[in-house]
Amino acid sequence: MKKHLVVLTAILVLLATAGFVTVCSRPTTSQKEPVKQKAEATATAWPGSKWPMHDMQRPQPPVITPGTFSTQQTPGKPPSDAIVLFNGKDLSNWQSVKGGPAQWKVEHGYFEVVPGTPDIETKQKFGAIQLHLEWSEPTPAHGSSQGRGNSGVFLQGEYEVQVLDSFHNITYPDGQAGAIYGQHPPMVNACRPPGEWETYDIAYTPPVWQDGKVTTPPYVTVFMNGVLVQNHAEIFGPTSGSPRPYPDLGGVGPLRLQDHHNPVRYRDIWIRELKPAP
Ligand code: MG
Repeated sequence: MKKHLVVLTAILVLLATAGFVTVCSRPTTSQKEPVKQKAEATATAWPGSKWPMHDMQRPQPPVITPGTFSTQQTPGKPPSDAIVLFNGKDLSNWQSVKGGPAQWKVEHGYFEVVPGTPDIETKQKFGAIQLHLEWSEPTPAHGSSQGRGNSGVFLQGEYEVQVLDSFHNITYPDGQAGAIYGQHPPMVNACRPPGEWETYDIAYTPPVWQDGKVTTPPYVTVFMNGVLVQNHAEIFGPTSGSPRPYPDLGGVGPLRLQDHHNPVRYRDIWIRELKPAP
C-alpha cells in the first residue's frame, strides 16, 4: 500500500511538472502579437498604393535642409531645394507682362509696385508649387475698400490670392486680403497693421486635363501670417472678370504680381516645385 502511494505521488508530480512546463513555454498574447503584426505589415498595401506598408524597398524621400522663419526686421532663409525668386537685390527673375524688364522699384531689400507700370511675372513657369511670399502695405494707410493697398498674387498668371490692406478696412468679403478673388473669402481676417510684413505660404495644384476637359479643378491652400485662411479651396476659374472656363495653360504658368496703382512692397519670395512623395 505504501509502495502504491509512492508511485502515485511520483506520477502526479510528473504530470504537474509537465503541465507547468507547457504553460511556461506557451507564448503569451503580448509576445505573439508583434510577430503577427509584422507579418501582416509586410504583406498588406492600402487600396490605391502600390507599396506594401513599411516596405524598406520603397525609395527614401530626398533630404533637404529646411529654412528659417522671418522676423519683421530680417527675412528668413529658404529651404535648400527652393527656387529664390527675389533675393533682395534685383528683379532679374521677373519681367513686365507686356514684355521687357520689370519696372518696379528695388530698394532696402524689398521691391515696390510703381503705380501705372504693368504687372510683373516670373520668367519661369510653374505647375504645382509651394510658395512663400511677404508683403507690406503703404503707411500711413491711404484710400478705402479696394483702393487701399491693393495688389495680388496670381497663380499660373490666372488665379488671384488677393493682397489688400484689410486692417480696419471693410470691403466685399471675397475681395479682402487672403481671399481667392471673387470666389472664396478667407476663413478669418489675419491682417497685420500697414507697414508690417505679412506672410503668405501657399500650396497650389493646377487643374488636370483629360481629352480637352478639366477632370480635377485647381486647388489652393493659404496660410496668412501662419493662420490657415484657405483650406484646399477649389478655384472655380480665372479670377479676373466674369465667370469663364479654365484656360488650358499646358500645366504651367508664371507667378504674376499685380499693379493696382498702390505702392505695395514685397520681399523674401521663394517657390518649391512639388513632386509626388515616393
Ligand atoms: Mg488685387
